[in-house]
Amino acid sequence: MKGTSWIREQGMQDALLCAALRDRGMDDVPLWQHPFPKRDAAMTHCNDLVPRRDGPVAPERVEVVDEAAMAEEIKRRARALGAADVGMTALKPEFVELGVELPHRNVIAAICYEDYRKSVESPQAVDLEAMSTYAKCADVATELARQIREEFGYPALAHHNGSFQIQAIPVFYEVGFGELGRHGSLIHPELGANFRPGFVTTDLPVAYDEPYEFGVQDYCMSCNLCRNNCPGDAIPDGYIVTDGIKRWLTDIDKCYPISRFREAYCHICVDVCPYIYKENGDAEKRDIFRQYMKIRKEEGYKTPKGER
Ligand code: SF4
Ligand code: SF4
Repeated sequence: MKGTSWIREQGMQDALLCAALRDRGMDDVPLWQHPFPKRDAAMTHCNDLVPRRDGPVAPERVEVVDEAAMAEEIKRRARALGAADVGMTALKPEFVELGVELPHRNVIAAICYEDYRKSVESPQAVDLEAMSTYAKCADVATELARQIREEFGYPALAHHNGSFQIQAIPVFYEVGFGELGRHGSLIHPELGANFRPGFVTTDLPVAYDEPYEFGVQDYCMSCNLCRNNCPGDAIPDGYIVTDGIKRWLTDIDKCYPISRFREAYCHICVDVCPYIYKENGDAEKRDIFRQYMKIRKEEGYKTPKGER
């Protein structure tokens, strides 16, 4: 299957980032140049796993007579590896990077929770948690793909922050992880937007999950907390509609000066989102949210975190 989706490159391959740097006469990204060995080790870990994305497939294939049972088995395994939620669906060309050939039938998404308690610490603590969660996702996807190849005898390729060809948000929606929020991240009923992904594309026959909507997009129409707290004024009021789904397009040129061109990480739009507790009713997360919003108020809602 040949991919049809334009996927923004990461790091210095990101054309929008390079253009923004050029416009400002800059030649590197202050956030990444800032020495931070633990975060950099987590990034290196993802990159170190790239050669293990694929591997030999066992010659004996396990016949799958019950796709629902196999889906449950894969979910059990992914959770045992550390995933907070797992979902699967048919791989479609629009889920795959433009021009990339992926010969697989299905895509499995495995997401890991990003600890919300870090939000009340420092931008560095949130940065480290984000990158450590990406590293955990890379471990989960790499091991799950290996098990599918070697124990079930089906081709399987891991996709994670070291290297991926998958369009994350449409897959998240399709496998029932939730709805797209105004801040541009998908909102999960249990995890809010505090998670990072890994994927496996595979021929293993599995039953598919269904999209799950629980009123997020309607709520975003009147909430506006992310927009009102974004130091870059990068989150818009208006939206476009694609296939019946609202998409608020974050203005990257306004976001980057806050999230990349300073030495401190910015994750404010996600951390002010009440869905961290709103749907799951988690009392501890609700208390952290209140604590976090108190800090925002003291710092000034639109002040980049850690600047006062
Ligand atoms: S990362 Fe920061 S600057 Fe960028 S959209 Fe979110 S809150 Fe705004
Ligand atoms: S903060 Fe409010 S408006 Fe923004 S994504 Fe979350 S619920 Fe939607």
